[in-house]
Amino acid sequence: MLPRLVYRLLTEVSPRLAWKAAHLWAYKGTRAVAAHRRRAARGELFPPFLFLALTNACNLHCRGCWIESRGPVFRLSEAEVDAVIASGKRRHSWFFTLLGGEPMMYPGALDIPRRHPDCYFQIITNGLFFGDDNVREIRRLGNVTPLVSLDGPEEANDRRRGAGVFAAATDGMARLKREKILFGVATTVTGQNLDEVTSDEYVRGFIRRGAMYLWYYVFRPVGADPAPELCVDREQMLELRRRLLVLRRRHPIVLIDTYWNAAGEAVCPAALGLGFHIGPRGSIEPCPPLSFARETIRDNQGDLAATIDRSRFLRAFQEFVRARTRGCVILERPGELAEFLRQWNVTDYSGRDALAEIAAGTARTSHHLPGEEIPEDYWFYRLLKRQLFFGMGGYG
Ligand code: SF4
Repeated sequence: MLPRLVYRLLTEVSPRLAWKAAHLWAYKGTRAVAAHRRRAARGELFPPFLFLALTNACNLHCRGCWIESRGPVFRLSEAEVDAVIASGKRRHSWFFTLLGGEPMMYPGALDIPRRHPDCYFQIITNGLFFGDDNVREIRRLGNVTPLVSLDGPEEANDRRRGAGVFAAATDGMARLKREKILFGVATTVTGQNLDEVTSDEYVRGFIRRGAMYLWYYVFRPVGADPAPELCVDREQMLELRRRLLVLRRRHPIVLIDTYWNAAGEAVCPAALGLGFHIGPRGSIEPCPPLSFARETIRDNQGDLAATIDRSRFLRAFQEFVRARTRGCVILERPGELAEFLRQWNVTDYSGRDALAEIAAGTARTSHHLPGEEIPEDYWFYRLLKRQLFFGMGGYG
């Protein structure tokens, strides 16, 4: 697999963009993780990676989405975005995931990577904004990797995301491929699409379309329409893990999950302090599906590092998770999680009553599978997971 992946990288990605990804994403990502470990050893809290939800505005209304995009539009100001990134840089954190809503609907979204050429940006997008101008600009910038969300083959995707979305997103991907841009596809795995989205055919389809990485998320029943029937059960979770290992050996594409470390043990990025989520109103939240916060980026005169490090809530959240599971408390302990959030008197930034939604949830399997851990069996992925995307940009 590796020689074919290297061949693809050499022939399908512009050498300048490949070099930028190697330097800004891989090399600086490794340094960011090392700096994070040193901070953690001193008892300091600041993540190596940050998610910035630029806006809650979105042109789609996908089933199971937890973002409230029909009400008032919120966005981070340009000055706030720059201040967050500057704080990250001071702590050797150079990788930022831009999301929303739809981040490409944020005015001047591509001005952000232009203003910060020493950082690398992953844009999680529905893929409907890759007309010629934007694609040329992404190529010119070089420090952006689009991650296009597609949930299964055309019919299944459009059932969740809307008619015509698959065709429009893959058109955009064709333009990204033509301009030799490094991009990936994000797919949500549900109990219903597991077979389809982990098939050889599915993976090959995105290789043909030029994706260099495929990022699997596991469905979480959150939001106004939580769709619990889409949850993955324990046997399916184990099957997902087994299939990932097989697909990784078989296909020249990087298959990313942020659920398991090299030993196959479960990981919660928020509990490990690997990444926090900044909402479009500036709230500092544990992770994207948990839109609750006690602090905002405006606290402590805008000193983000001080605000995160002094956040008793973020630290208590880590303790709360660690005391219960290595996996996901949203899935495993919704009732206790709602109680914890209530005790901390958090502000709910969802635009709905997300606390009531979580409280109404039923305990389910997460990726924590004690006694049945399946370690990575391919040295390349063991190395990556030890050094790099062990939580990088991951929803967990
Ligand atoms: S595992 Fe669950 S709680 Fe942890 S970061 Fe992921 S979604 Fe959030």
